[in-house]
Amino acid sequence: MGAAKFEITRKCKICGEPFVAKTITSWYCSPRCSKVAFKRRKDEEKRNERLDVIAKSIPKDQEYITIPEAYSMFGISKETLYRLIRKGVIPSVKVGQRQTRVSKETLMEMYPLRKSLLKKQPKPIPKLYSLESKDCYTIQQACEKFSSFERATIAYLRTGDYADRGRSVQ
Ligand SMILES: [Zn+2]
Repeated sequence: MGAAKFEITRKCKICGEPFVAKTITSWYCSPRCSKVAFKRRKDEEKRNERLDVIAKSIPKDQEYITIPEAYSMFGISKETLYRLIRKGVIPSVKVGQRQTRVSKETLMEMYPLRKSLLKKQPKPIPKLYSLESKDCYTIQQACEKFSSFERATIAYLRTGDYADRGRSVQ
């Protein structure tokens, strides 16, 4: 990282001791504190992974979820959930003698999903046609290639996407 002229006294994020930061990204006073920070990050990742597993195992059509399930989805503490139940903000049901379940839909309206759930959502966008230059006609090439009717269509579609037998207009 860019070192050299940067020098500032910071408080170590782990032990709280002041130290002279050698780079902009120095946050810990010693290798020992860096190690602690690294371990905490790893533990946090593992914790998130465990919660993600719980959250992902909840059936999509399940209307009422348990308190631990609600925590796994939204990271809302048990205390907060019970307070909201008491206030009548979140609809809840009793299952058996002890288990309380809360409305998933209401929570979805009130809270965002936990961060690690959001960023791990796979988003492969299927490529229906290629927009690489080698697979495209220029407008001019397309006009030479197609009849006047098609030329008119292409002119109309100039600003949008146009695909024909796997080829597109650039
Ligand atoms: Zn430290």
